[in-house]
Amino acid sequence: MSGGERDRVSTAAWSALRADVRGELCVRGEPSYEARRAALSWNARVPARHPAAILRVADADEVACAVRWAREHGLRVAVRSGGHSWCGASVRDEALVLDLGALCTIEVDVEARVARVGPAVENLALAVELASHGLAFPVGHCPSVAVGGYLLSGGFGWNSGVFGPACARVRSLEIVDARGEQVHVDAQREPELYWAARGAGAGFFGVATRFELELAPLPRAIHSLALSFPREAVHALEPEVEALLARRSAALELTLLAFPARSARELQLLAVAFADSEREAQELLAPLAPLVARAAHVEAAQAMSFASLLQGLGALFPAGRRHGVDVLYSERTAGALWSAVATALRAAPSPHALGMVVPAPPLDPGAPLADMALSLFAPSFVGLYGQWEHARDDAENLAWLDAQRAAFRASTCGHYVGETDLYAERTRAQRCFTPEAFERLRALRERWDPRGVFAGFPLSADAKR
Ligand SMILES: Cc1cc2nc3c(=O)[nH]c(=O)nc-3n(C[C@H](O)[C@H](O)[C@H](O)COP(=O)(O)OP(=O)(O)OC[C@H]3O[C@@H](n4cnc5c(N)ncnc54)[C@H](O)[C@@H]3O)c2cc1C
Repeated sequence: MSGGERDRVSTAAWSALRADVRGELCVRGEPSYEARRAALSWNARVPARHPAAILRVADADEVACAVRWAREHGLRVAVRSGGHSWCGASVRDEALVLDLGALCTIEVDVEARVARVGPAVENLALAVELASHGLAFPVGHCPSVAVGGYLLSGGFGWNSGVFGPACARVRSLEIVDARGEQVHVDAQREPELYWAARGAGAGFFGVATRFELELAPLPRAIHSLALSFPREAVHALEPEVEALLARRSAALELTLLAFPARSARELQLLAVAFADSEREAQELLAPLAPLVARAAHVEAAQAMSFASLLQGLGALFPAGRRHGVDVLYSERTAGALWSAVATALRAAPSPHALGMVVPAPPLDPGAPLADMALSLFAPSFVGLYGQWEHARDDAENLAWLDAQRAAFRASTCGHYVGETDLYAERTRAQRCFTPEAFERLRALRERWDPRGVFAGFPLSADAKR
């Protein structure tokens, strides 16, 4: 245990917390601490930050009890639902980390088309359960990501073009606030917390112990096309990609991928059509015809499920690897960015690295976005996903990521709080919001958590560390 918290929290105080909860408490210095600390992070490159203790809570009452205890003993609280934050946002120095892994129930009300889910529910489990009732939700793209951090960050998942960002479908939440009180939050009751919980991500000043989600009917025909191209083709493809973007429907989700020089793959365009009939799915995919004609390899799949989509994309991010990731928004169009990402990936030291460009879906101008903390949008999203196997390769892979951040700086107009590296620069959290939204978040944090009980954004000027 480090000097600071050893002095602040007595052994008797830890014992009192242990006696009050059924969940497992592990204090720094205990034999299982290092394993428990490492298990907080899905990324095998576990941050070199050391919480004072990790408490795996059994239920929402224990969350409330632990928040009150931490407040009384002057410890900050960090929260982990599934540990998928690329930058390990829940692993905070000298904090009490609340591990919500046990809060993973799913209840579906088929009639009302709502689901009530715990924060540790994983995308795949949710998608499978909903599909069994003919229902769907914009779950994130990979199977094991938990909904807790995903929904609080905004959540851009499968079929976001039609379903919208996931947080816009959060109807209500159960929150434990900085006083340790359990609060029901929706548009009428505690609208300030409701606003913040939909997009604040790691800057949220409460613990979400349950989400009520508005569901959609399951699209009955999901078809996909995966087109592969040689790396040199990327410039020539730009006009066709732009033409496709101009013609496509919101129900056609496009992802442009680039792989490193040392990988067997080169460039891939993944198109997924979410439709209700075979015919409609084929019509959605029809604008891809000029690109299909130029592809070196075409893989078409029909009768897909959300589960198979999740498993397919998840295979690109297997568990157990070390990750150095950053993502950015750009005003540039996806066709031009694909070339830039392909160039970046050519220099990647690891064969497992991945570059991604996702064009924003065409928005319905008649459907204004909800007022919520998720406030920054742009025509294109770029993801730079460094993935490698060994700690000895950290420096080389992180240097590659730094070089790419610099190369993309002029094209960057902001970041997505759910996937960006919040430790990359002091103002990074701020750059994930419009200035108005960031200021509102700051003011709400001051009001709801004046003593800085919750760890808040890493490095942000307003985070009480
Ligand atoms: C393989 C992979 C694929 C991904 N794909 C997508 C994608 O398709 N779309 C997308 O939008 N994002 C995606 N992400 C990003 C992901 O949504 C975020 O990393 C999200 O934070 C993960 O949720 P988590 O609960 O595992 O986060 P954790 O790492 O557990 O938490 C991250 C932070 O969120 C806050 N937090 C988490 N849970 C709570 C809670 N219950 N109450 C209060 N605060 C909480 C805390 O501040 C915490 O530090 C992906 C990440 C990975 C690793």
